[in-house]
Amino acid sequence: MKVNVLTIFPEMFYPVTESSILGKAKEKGLIDVNLINIRDYTLDRHNSTDDAPFGGGCGMVMTPQPIFDCMKALGDEVRSHPILYMSPRGKIMDMDLINELAEEGEFTILSGHYEGVDQRVLDYFNMREVSIGDYVLTGGELPAMVLIDAVSRFIPGVLGNETSAEDESVYSGLLEADQYTRPREFEGMEVPEILSGGNHKKIRLWKLKESIRKTASSRPDLFRAWVEGEPDLSGFTKAERKELYSLIESLK
Ligand code: SAH
Repeated sequence: MKVNVLTIFPEMFYPVTESSILGKAKEKGLIDVNLINIRDYTLDRHNSTDDAPFGGGCGMVMTPQPIFDCMKALGDEVRSHPILYMSPRGKIMDMDLINELAEEGEFTILSGHYEGVDQRVLDYFNMREVSIGDYVLTGGELPAMVLIDAVSRFIPGVLGNETSAEDESVYSGLLEADQYTRPREFEGMEVPEILSGGNHKKIRLWKLKESIRKTASSRPDLFRAWVEGEPDLSGFTKAERKELYSLIESLK
């Protein structure tokens, strides 16, 4: 996967792209984060990337020229792939976008700063605005890293064999059940007995029931969508399915 990132703070990305799972993916050549410093494309001697807004208002707006030249330097090829502008005005990032970007193989992200970016550059390159939530940050760098991290989990080879991106909360349509590791007893608190019992069929049923309960209480919107999607419970016995259906009914 190749991600071109236009930013005035490329150094903010290093700790994230160089360490842990993303760092390993980079070493293996699975992810290439191409950091481009917008400031390198400024033409004035102060290397300024912002100016006062037309029509008044507080703060500064990023000027179009350095971003425009940055995009031109990347070449026409990048325009056949998605170009995203991280912005609180955008559609909130979700699984559909993450899957789409993972399949694309290449995309470009513009991280804004100050009060935002001159609209003409967004229009010219047909940039899609993407938000990470209904709150405003000081810059688009953290949102860009959130997006890169989320997409990278779907690039084959990035996660170890033992972990599958699709099994996680949200992707399966339900939130994950509570998890425990050793020791079996900690500060007087025990791991649920069923998990240490070793009966895999019972554990599987328990985990699904816990997922259903958790989702219904924390995210009723996801729970409703999951129920409406008529989940496939064919892997469970008739008796188990009956238990699951009555749990689902009781939570509706
Ligand atoms: N004046 C703008 C906010 C600018 S915040 C407005 O009201 O819409 C500065 C920059 O931070 C933005 O250009 C954007 O790139 C980034 N940013 C802030 N909050 C964000 C969010 N929730 N999602 C994605 N990017 C965000």
